[in-house]
Amino acid sequence: MIPLCVPNISGNEAKYLAECVETSFVSSIGPFVTRFEDMVAAAAGTRGAVATSAGTTALHAALIAVGVRPGDLVICPSLTFIASANAISHCGATPWLFDVDAESWTLDPKLLARELAESTSLRGGERIHTHTGRRVSSVVPVFTLGIPADMDALTAVAREAGLAVVVDGAAALGATYKGKRSGDLGADLTMYSFNGNKTATAGGGGAVAGNDAGLLAHFRHLTTTARTSPDYDHDIVGFNYRMTNLQAAVGCAQMERLDDFVTAKRRIAARYNEALGRIDGFGAFPEPAHTESAAWFSGFAFQTRDGDRRSAALRGHLRAQGIDARPFWKPMHRQAPYRDAPRTEMAVTDALWSCIVTLPCSTHLTEADQTKVIGTVLAWARD
Ligand SMILES: *Cc1c(COP(=O)(O)O)cnc(C)c1O
Repeated sequence: MIPLCVPNISGNEAKYLAECVETSFVSSIGPFVTRFEDMVAAAAGTRGAVATSAGTTALHAALIAVGVRPGDLVICPSLTFIASANAISHCGATPWLFDVDAESWTLDPKLLARELAESTSLRGGERIHTHTGRRVSSVVPVFTLGIPADMDALTAVAREAGLAVVVDGAAALGATYKGKRSGDLGADLTMYSFNGNKTATAGGGGAVAGNDAGLLAHFRHLTTTARTSPDYDHDIVGFNYRMTNLQAAVGCAQMERLDDFVTAKRRIAARYNEALGRIDGFGAFPEPAHTESAAWFSGFAFQTRDGDRRSAALRGHLRAQGIDARPFWKPMHRQAPYRDAPRTEMAVTDALWSCIVTLPCSTHLTEADQTKVIGTVLAWARD
């Protein structure tokens, strides 16, 4: 089987792990954690970063750090991985699900502005959702496939409405928007994931990056049991969301090669687009103006009426030929836990999600294997 997307472990991972064992720094204190945080901040383009046990836990604590409270509504796109919505639920809040923009598959600033104007009002300095009476406290743009959302427009709308902005940039390290790196686009905090299927992995793990030192310090406090002294004093209900030195050792070895990994991802995506572009109904993954995607996944969307059926048929065919190909995220408004969450119309998301095919795109995918994938897709399309 040619896998969809597997870790590329061929750098300093074993060496750094051996250092952890030899020095017995295997847990949540150790030099690799600090080094990893510095590398993430550099890649994100921010003043600092704090490592965590997972992307989901990073997003959960980030939302609490910016002031999300139980009962709030938090705006996020329906087209996302369920972790974004779950992190909101873990705060005792509810996701307010939004359709995405057709050109970028990310939150649509115009829709955001319109919904805030039509469905909310300011009451006692708080933004209240008219229909549910709930406070709306923040917005979570998701950088789908590593594509930055239109952050200049989104942050302008969000700030005007008094909302915090926490980006789910899980797979966006390496992306740029108007020449700036993905953590430096005006959000309060930006989350990254180092899960095994991300471009750089720590086995599992996450981080937030940001430019506000006080907010990052508060986030670190929250994620490290909110301890105020070595004598077991804690001032608030914190979390044990630390990353271990073992995870960070792998993460450092991966981050050393992030530029090469992202270059490989983009090369693989470009070759698929070039080779498959003439298939009937082929719709490339978005490349919005002024953005460079981190190209986390490769693939395309069928833009024909029967796109969902063709996508499923092609995926089945490829798997039968020993090539892993998969659908992409099933939207949140179609998931059991979020069926009743408040939401906008979903015209773009509903037309899109089931027509997507993702194709093998590990950073060490060989040219020969990619040639096989392309040949198999083209032969299927001819029949
Ligand atoms: C991978 C991913 C996450 C979750 O990260 P974990 O590290 O697996 O918790 C969240 N959001 C998006 C968009 C992701 O792709």
